Amino acid sequence: MLVLKFGGTSVGKPERMKKIADLVTETPGQKVVVLSALSGTTNALVAIGDFLLKGDLAAAEKEISTLEKHYQSFITELYVSDNFKAIGQETVSRFFIFMRLLAAGQFDDKSYRELLAQGELISTELFYQHLQERKINARLLPALYFMSIDENEEPELEKIAQRLKPLLKSLEHVDIIITQGYICRNHRNEIDNLKRGGSDYTASLMGAAIKADEIQIWTDIDGMHNNDPRVVKKTYPISELTFDEASELAYFGAKILHPSTIVPAQKYSVPVRLKNTMDEKAPGTIISNKETESIFKAVAAKDGITAIKIKSSRMLMAYGFLRKVFEIFEQYKTPIDMISTSEVAVSLTIDQDANLDKIVNELNAFSNVEIDRNQTIVCIVGHRIGNQKGVLDKIFHALAEIPIRMVSVGGSYNNISILVDTQYKEQTLIQLNQGIFNLA
Ligand code: ADP
Ligand code: ASP
Ligand code: MG
Repeated sequence: MLVLKFGGTSVGKPERMKKIADLVTETPGQKVVVLSALSGTTNALVAIGDFLLKGDLAAAEKEISTLEKHYQSFITELYVSDNFKAIGQETVSRFFIFMRLLAAGQFDDKSYRELLAQGELISTELFYQHLQERKINARLLPALYFMSIDENEEPELEKIAQRLKPLLKSLEHVDIIITQGYICRNHRNEIDNLKRGGSDYTASLMGAAIKADEIQIWTDIDGMHNNDPRVVKKTYPISELTFDEASELAYFGAKILHPSTIVPAQKYSVPVRLKNTMDEKAPGTIISNKETESIFKAVAAKDGITAIKIKSSRMLMAYGFLRKVFEIFEQYKTPIDMISTSEVAVSLTIDQDANLDKIVNELNAFSNVEIDRNQTIVCIVGHRIGNQKGVLDKIFHALAEIPIRMVSVGGSYNNISILVDTQYKEQTLIQLNQGIFNLA
């Protein structure tokens, strides 16, 4: 069985949705199709939710009406017959009546998450109806029946697998099983989500749960590129990556994949293929256990990083110092990304600063703390890059003009990470493109 995921731009226009229907029907065998919301919808829902949390109902209603108009014109182009146009109209009305009900009530975090879920719920329903109009053998399988996260917001893979088994058994005769990306239930059984870009993660969790033959992530670009195409002009697609390499790139900012996508697929060695909906013939990227030897494969950048320098109040770091530091971060459930130590100080980075004040307060009891915000981690990934001759020389030569705040080598075989102030991010990516990939 295959799991095929289509992102927002792949379903963002009626003609694209129709093309996906062709693509899916032409793919042999039974498959699960995971859909995102239409492009722009989740951003609009976030804006509506933010207005409602602030109590600005008028601004929220304006956004809701704009979105509703967009869906109304979408369905007139998607469906052919008057009968299906009417069904589409009813569907859209029902969703927008519900959104306005949510808006009119006591709007809290729970209603916000319910609002965010509407994007995937409506896109899958519209797609399903489109397949019905074309008499294609398909069913909707609601993600809220099986996708769940625990109290730490971690997906419950075993439970997901257990729930999916009987559901899929009952759909054995169906060619195309459509489900929603991104949305799930949390440990309170409320509607929740897997964070922005989470549809990739849904596909990978499902692929792992059913031990699929392959997980395919269909998007608007021909695979994982060697550098961020939003920042750097000349980039090229990479044909093969290992799970480890792809995982590091996703975690450190390659937006094509949700940061956690690779983890479940890797656990069960299910290959992940990245494909371009706009150019089906392009080979894309295959992510598997197979190693290929090129030293420099790709770079990615993750913004919004805070660097924390913690200097022991004693001159030299006593043993137990690092333990005390780590325990504080653990207590506030704040993961540490990069770390570098010297005899008198330790520098580390975090990307979740919600509890930073409390953390600093506790650290101050036995150390001096300095904070630098607006930092970016640039991660350089390649085959055993961490222990190859001449690699650091090439990187530092390329970045001779850039003040580097931290470097991490040897933490992983496949990755060298550097920390720069975000104002140098673009320059860093451009100069690495020239210096290590010879692209002007
Ligand atoms: P989708 O809506 O299909 O989930 P996304 O916008 O989340 O699509 O991801 C695809 C985008 O990721 C591309 O259009 C591209 O701009 C961006 N991107 C960032 N880094 C990379 C990279 N290294 N390789 C490919 N795409 C990347
Ligand atoms: N629709 C969600 C988002 O925009 C999930 C996704 O597209 O993967 O973040
Ligand atoms: Mg995405």
